[in-house]
Amino acid sequence: CPNNNDRAQFLSKIYMPDQSKKWRTFLIDFAKKIGKPDPEVYIDSGKWKARQGGNGISAAEDVKIRFTNCTAEDNAKVYKLYRPIDDNFIQMFIPFGIVAKELGRKMINETIILDIKTNTPIISIQPTNQDGYDYSVKIKTMNVEKHDDLQRMIGYQIRKFNACRKCLKCESLCKFGAITISGEEYKINPDKCRRCKMCVSAKYLNGGCMMDKYLRTKE
Ligand code: SF4
Ligand code: SF4
Repeated sequence: CPNNNDRAQFLSKIYMPDQSKKWRTFLIDFAKKIGKPDPEVYIDSGKWKARQGGNGISAAEDVKIRFTNCTAEDNAKVYKLYRPIDDNFIQMFIPFGIVAKELGRKMINETIILDIKTNTPIISIQPTNQDGYDYSVKIKTMNVEKHDDLQRMIGYQIRKFNACRKCLKCESLCKFGAITISGEEYKINPDKCRRCKMCVSAKYLNGGCMMDKYLRTKE
């Protein structure tokens, strides 16, 4: 553990020599994997305890918001997903308005999000197949003044869907008790959500998910 002090490490070498050696070997292998030129020194000096970011961790890929701009439609982006679209994905759009699946085009399995005040469609969610992405979704914004702002917040929800590790931050952030996280489930209750957008705002949750801070790597 990074919080173990030198004394604890010293004692573990004496009383748990096999585990201590195994742990040191594991850390050195990791240091090599992330490209440290002096892996033994990096581990034995304790510098590894201060490491940040997701270098060498496969989960670091999940926090990157990958998308391509749709060439066929204005204000539409095709986002990369790391698992198939399901009800959990669609409910990530509750903070933006009312989920109206029945208004979407059935042929393309579209879901429409209505503005909470005006009842006008502001988001179209369309499952799609994009070359190079295992799973993907096309998101088109409409009837809004600032498409980029809305797409940025949508990107935050994509990140949550791809990278959430259930750290409970979102649950504590929502003042209205609309977000509940239990086990592997992240739920937004449409009846409790006031569409305050705190959970999709950089001011309150930079990047839309704490994992962006912890697992970010340089491109
Ligand atoms: S913080 Fe809570 S109430 Fe506000 S938009 Fe998010 S889920 Fe809804
Ligand atoms: S901050 Fe990220 S990991 Fe934590 S609960 Fe929210 S979405 Fe999940």
